[in-house]
Amino acid sequence: MEALLQQIENYKKEITVYEAADAEATEAFRIKYLGTKGIVKAIMGEMKNVPNDQKKQFGQLLNDFKLFTEEKYEALKLSTTGGAQTAAKEIDWSLPGDSFPVGTRHPLTIVRNEIVSIFKRLGFAVAEGPEIEDDWHNFGAMNLPEDHPARDMQDTFYINQNPAWLLRTHTSSVQARVMEKQKPPIRVICPGRVYRNETISARAHCFFHQVEGLYIDENVSFADLKQTLYFFVQEMFGKDVKVRFRPSYFPFTEPSAEMDISCLICGGDGCNVCKHTGWVEILGSGMVHPKVLENFNIDANKYTGFAFGMGVERICQLKYRVNDLRLYSQNDVRFLKQFTSAV
Ligand SMILES: [Zn+2]
Repeated sequence: MEALLQQIENYKKEITVYEAADAEATEAFRIKYLGTKGIVKAIMGEMKNVPNDQKKQFGQLLNDFKLFTEEKYEALKLSTTGGAQTAAKEIDWSLPGDSFPVGTRHPLTIVRNEIVSIFKRLGFAVAEGPEIEDDWHNFGAMNLPEDHPARDMQDTFYINQNPAWLLRTHTSSVQARVMEKQKPPIRVICPGRVYRNETISARAHCFFHQVEGLYIDENVSFADLKQTLYFFVQEMFGKDVKVRFRPSYFPFTEPSAEMDISCLICGGDGCNVCKHTGWVEILGSGMVHPKVLENFNIDANKYTGFAFGMGVERICQLKYRVNDLRLYSQNDVRFLKQFTSAV
């Protein structure tokens, strides 16, 4: 029995000095001493060789040894696997937190939001309407009757099941729906996606985004139109930007004008973007055609109004120098990541 006692003493010494650097070493300790084929079990197995009169004394000794080993195991576990007490000591509250990727807003969304916020400050409300339209709201009401040559400029996609339906070519259709329901004064902007049957290239796409505006009230003049749009470009591009109006033609406005701004890239000296003219076209505008007002039973002798429309992609191109329209719809993360975070 002396040999067994000596063995236990040796194991106790071994266990006392046992050190575990990590959870793996702690587990190794458990397997070695407390596992099903471990030392504690083996020593317990020796009980059968102990003479009967010594069984009680040895039983006590072996039990103590077992408890001693188990306590050591608990202590190792606490120091290596992060028991509550130890973990609290190890947390470094000065470390930065985990970051969550939140993505970025699409450049067209950033620019559309900016346009909308500028016009909201002038008292314009936002109106929205369907992208699948009927002929009347998209063309007829806008003084573009069938066979009008201006329709050729706005070829679009038609729905097979019902040829009277089409994908809207401009958000003027939303203006039509507003005039249908609301009496003047009307002051709305209509942001949204529009469609054209165009071959896709760097300069043209089968869909793009517009923000159109409409202001109808008594005594609305061309001077109001100019000042409103001048305010808009100054807010959008800075106080130094210059504007010029060129006479133009749209079936739904009379008189009509295209508005240019001084080239932001060369400052008016001439470059590729402005085709060496120093000016860049950014929107179309004009006084609402009396025929359009009459289409909605608005008295054209009492009320006047102005309307304008711009392409969000165009403004975005000038703001961010994006030269290829296709980039906006390719979902290339390398391109999209360059814009302001969504938060
Ligand atoms: Zn230029």
